[in-house]
Amino acid sequence: MSLASFVVAFALSAALAQTASTDLSTAQRLARDIFQQLIEINTTDSVGDCAAAAKAMAERLKAAGFPDEDVKVLGPNPRKGNLVARLRGTGARKPILLLAHLDVVEAKREDWSFDPFKFLEQDGYYYGRGTSDDKAMAAIFIANLIRIKQEGQAGFKPDRDIIVALTADEEGGDYNGVEWLLKNHPELIEAEFGINEGGGGAIRGGKRLFNAVQASEKVYQSFLFEVKNKGGHSSRPVKDNAIYQLAAALQRLAGFDFPVNLNEVTRAYFERVSKLESGETAAAMKGVIQNPPDARSLAYLENSPAYNATMRTTCVATMLEAGHAENALPQTARATVNCRILPTETAEATRETLTKVAGDSRITITPIRQPKPSPPSPLTAEVMKPIEAVTQQMWPGVPVVPVMSTGATDSLYLRKAGIPVYGTSGIFSDIDDGRAHGKDERIGVKAFYEGQEYLYRLVKAFASANSNQRQAADK
Ligand SMILES: [Zn+2]
Repeated sequence: MSLASFVVAFALSAALAQTASTDLSTAQRLARDIFQQLIEINTTDSVGDCAAAAKAMAERLKAAGFPDEDVKVLGPNPRKGNLVARLRGTGARKPILLLAHLDVVEAKREDWSFDPFKFLEQDGYYYGRGTSDDKAMAAIFIANLIRIKQEGQAGFKPDRDIIVALTADEEGGDYNGVEWLLKNHPELIEAEFGINEGGGGAIRGGKRLFNAVQASEKVYQSFLFEVKNKGGHSSRPVKDNAIYQLAAALQRLAGFDFPVNLNEVTRAYFERVSKLESGETAAAMKGVIQNPPDARSLAYLENSPAYNATMRTTCVATMLEAGHAENALPQTARATVNCRILPTETAEATRETLTKVAGDSRITITPIRQPKPSPPSPLTAEVMKPIEAVTQQMWPGVPVVPVMSTGATDSLYLRKAGIPVYGTSGIFSDIDDGRAHGKDERIGVKAFYEGQEYLYRLVKAFASANSNQRQAADK
């Protein structure tokens, strides 16, 4: 072992030792215990039980002194319970809502290196299904709510209620908890704004890049392209063929790009990330936020699927189905085209554009299921200032970057109902090693406790007007 690698190994083992379970503070130990308990309750849609997880959390809160009327487990189905808990403040301001989902994506033992439903700490990581998506936030919210309540005995009283909702069926299933609560018990989660998954810290090559705040997301909408034909015997083909017509339309779609359309969030994203990037990427990000956007910059950024999807609506063919027999002319040809629509555009306008692009009146284009559009959440000072302040306290120099998800989260239901939601966790992870929904899902041990501290400070900042006034006065 060279001296240099010895020093690195020593530093690494010291860093790991710092976060070994024996050295945890009382608050950290509680978060870890809750985290382990949640990971080991299977909450998949197929065989899992979200209600069991919700009840386990309810028991912990009641044991910590929360009254029964402020801790509820409710749901449409015995396996799909949602927890709603409330820590009462002075009521000077409207409540804030801390949201995390309890359910997890399916995980097969044979696909993993170890049991996905057994909490495992190894080499500086916690492993298990749900460690990153989304049980870390769920565990942290419960542990922090208990901690803030205990501080009540020492005199701290939030100036607004803090509501924690842990819900079912974000990943799939028929009983989305947020949707169900909004429909059946909206008063329980009525809030000024909410915090949810969708953001988090980005690390690349061991370096902290930025702390992302998700303030917007694209709208999921699939369309069915369909061509009908009278068909006939394949030994006597005619030019009028459903498969060829559909294929030609899809080929035209392949060559088409929706127009670039930046909004408040994506503009701020490119503006801030341009300062972290270098060379051509940085220049191109500065170019696309010009009005009108610089064409060469656009052409450069389009090459990245992630940046491309941030700049425009996308529609792509994902499934095909045609014909009914090997020796017959096709009577039907169908394609599924999956769109991710910018929050400032509509599904109907997207359908009209697709109709023009398909350029063939024999092709019908119809929406598959109804879209669930949600407006971007405004980047208000009330929300962004505390996020910036806590980020600078904990990781000086690391910028806060607003992001728009190209996928969807439960924030959409709340945004649609008029409650702004911000995805922020303070949990850093490697942007090139995303394991959510995949094999050997994990979260850094240090990242978990940093996220706990971040969310603790942030929620307290959101719930104490005095500290906000002080911060404003400091500026
Ligand atoms: Zn999730």
